[in-house]
Amino acid sequence: MMRAMVLETAEQPLRLVERPVPQPNPGQLLIAVAACGVCRTDLHVVDGELPDPKLPLVPGHEIVGRVVEIGAGVTGFAVGDRVGVPWLGHTCGNCSHCRSGHENLCDAPGFTGYTLDGGYASHCVADAAYCFHLPDAYSDVEAAPLLCAGLIGHRSLKMAGDAERLGLYGFGAAAHIVVQVARHQGRRVFAFTRPGDAEAQAFARSLGASWAGGSDSAPPEPLDAAILFAPVGALVPLALKSVRKGGVVVCGGIHMSDIPGFPYADLWGERVIRSVANLTRRDAEDFLALAPDAGVRTHIVRYPLEHANEALADLRDGRLSGAAVLVP
Ligand SMILES: [Zn+2]
Ligand SMILES: [Zn+2]
Repeated sequence: MMRAMVLETAEQPLRLVERPVPQPNPGQLLIAVAACGVCRTDLHVVDGELPDPKLPLVPGHEIVGRVVEIGAGVTGFAVGDRVGVPWLGHTCGNCSHCRSGHENLCDAPGFTGYTLDGGYASHCVADAAYCFHLPDAYSDVEAAPLLCAGLIGHRSLKMAGDAERLGLYGFGAAAHIVVQVARHQGRRVFAFTRPGDAEAQAFARSLGASWAGGSDSAPPEPLDAAILFAPVGALVPLALKSVRKGGVVVCGGIHMSDIPGFPYADLWGERVIRSVANLTRRDAEDFLALAPDAGVRTHIVRYPLEHANEALADLRDGRLSGAAVLVP
């Protein structure tokens, strides 16, 4: 039997369920989960802010585990291999986005822990074509946040172009990784936290941010780009005011409260607002190779699997420094 924390209805606590261990279908791996990160997207799913999740659902899309059994036709993995399973769980391979190298925008995707069962569990199955070997430099719990906070954070950073002065709004799991990569690339980072959150500001400085302050304050100099990880639409016009002409504001989250109106003059000067959606397998390969070279360390708060509701509550209430990880 396996254990899983299951979402039966949105806005209800997850419930611990015992069920038979699944068999891997052709193309799938059966994985014994060693660690699963808790992402803000899980919170949006549990809180009913994203449409049409699979229900009942096992959330979790930052899965680290070991291969227990291999479905027919799988190549590239052996029993016992350590693997990572990210948010992108499946793509159609046929739509115009898949065929043009933008599988992150696939019209018929499967997302781990949203439309497919994920890793808040002792076991899971995953499509082997979307699983990755993980760098040895990281323990299981340390590697988990790389799989979404790291991957999506890095994709967001790429969308910021060659910005030298980079603003990060919301200093959670993704930002705490992005600041390290950005510093490695020689950028300067300006970290914006909830106003008055001195602990998060000190955490940002300890990871190399040259300035940290409340999201209601202006940076000490204009930014070349800003990335928003906080799901707060009101930050978009604020960030836009902080970037120079030609600068970009990247929205890195899957869900955000509505963006209030703002004067066109704030967008004028070829400023850009854009979102980042999902990831491609190429993003994962690039980032998992880069993270150890850049010396990225992840800061983990560990919870037993059965305490998933507590981990989600701590994330919702801003009580975490770094990334929450469930251990079955
Ligand atoms: Zn597709
Ligand atoms: Zn995520």
